Amino acid sequence: MSTTVIRGGRIIDPANKRDEIADLVIADGRIAEKPESGKRKAESEEIDATGLIVAPGLIDIHVHLREPGFAHKETIASGARAAAAGGFTTVVCMPNTSPAADNPSTIAWIKDRAKDVACVNVLPTGAISKDIAGDDLASIGSLAQAGVVAITDDGHCIQNHELMRRAVEYARMFDLPVLDHCQDYSLVGNGIVHEGYWSTLLGLRGWPAAGEELIVARNILLAELCDHHIHCQHISAAGSVRLLREARRRGVKISGEVCPHHIALTDESVQTFDTNFKMNPPLRSPEDVQALLGGMADGTLSILASDHAPHAGFEKEVEFDQAPFGIVGLETELGLFLTVLLHQHKTVDLRRIIEMYTVEPARLLKLEAGTLSTSATGDVTLIDPEKEWTVQTDQFQSLSRNTPFEGWKLKGRAVRTIVAGKTVWTL
Ligand SMILES: [Zn+2]
Repeated sequence: MSTTVIRGGRIIDPANKRDEIADLVIADGRIAEKPESGKRKAESEEIDATGLIVAPGLIDIHVHLREPGFAHKETIASGARAAAAGGFTTVVCMPNTSPAADNPSTIAWIKDRAKDVACVNVLPTGAISKDIAGDDLASIGSLAQAGVVAITDDGHCIQNHELMRRAVEYARMFDLPVLDHCQDYSLVGNGIVHEGYWSTLLGLRGWPAAGEELIVARNILLAELCDHHIHCQHISAAGSVRLLREARRRGVKISGEVCPHHIALTDESVQTFDTNFKMNPPLRSPEDVQALLGGMADGTLSILASDHAPHAGFEKEVEFDQAPFGIVGLETELGLFLTVLLHQHKTVDLRRIIEMYTVEPARLLKLEAGTLSTSATGDVTLIDPEKEWTVQTDQFQSLSRNTPFEGWKLKGRAVRTIVAGKTVWTL
């Protein structure tokens, strides 16, 4: 019997509406009622959590682990270490690997690999369409059987609404949530930065906000038509927030997530032509940032995620036009959200930030995670919300360094990550 006792921390467990200073015990990998007194433990660990937040293990539902196929950017092992260093005990990986995760054998490979090498829980998603090409549906039933937690064509977006409708109907039959990267190809074209003042001034091709809003509206209509949940990934535009707010008020099964770069930065940054400011969807205007902050404060946007998208240096060190979209995020996201939401804007409190990283994603994907209930898996994140630190890419566990936040001073970070009672990372 192995026991871990986390002493004296402030336990914030939104699933159980709990917020108190107490000890938390993990016995044999599960949350226990209290220490078994009298018995001598074969193995016992004490962790002093005075002054720290004791939260359920955080979940990031949007990461690219790049394996199979792109191990020079990230591997399942390195991505899991980056997750642990960011305070995450569970990550959900996207299917745009090579081969694409559009079939049961690739899903089985990812699960086996994760079991062997990952220090956190890795849950795969499956593709909606074959080869993520948007033409024919993947075999959604066999993906469900293979154990995916959701389907998505992330990085791409199914343009044919009839095909998307069939996908949502199949997903409903197998009780699988649908996640969608919202991008209308005909409107966005070859756009690379937000269409507005800076795209005009710099002569960079624009990616209009309406290109996202159109697909958010499509997804709202399909969620209603099919009576099944669609989750809109990495929302960036004010109009998307308005659409989601109205639909959620009417009870439509629709939700949206926010990534930290979309609230910490605006499109003004692209004037540096630094390709670490190039992401999809792009950084938007200050008005869009305000709308995202409002949407997070009133519950319209309910999930926080990174869109961790590692790329090797040689891939990003090219002309802005040529560079791939995306940045790494696992090791900076919690610090950025705590800095921006809790300390700067004070618009979302600590309990809600933890809820958006635990209860909300667990509910969406029907995971047995995100809670400190007795007998739940002992996944725990210790957070110091006041800790001041500087982002240093040479400290990253990720194989990639493509971040625009190098040198940023942040306030708040995870200081220890515990998976099934075992410390997998500590500061
Ligand atoms: Zn995406």
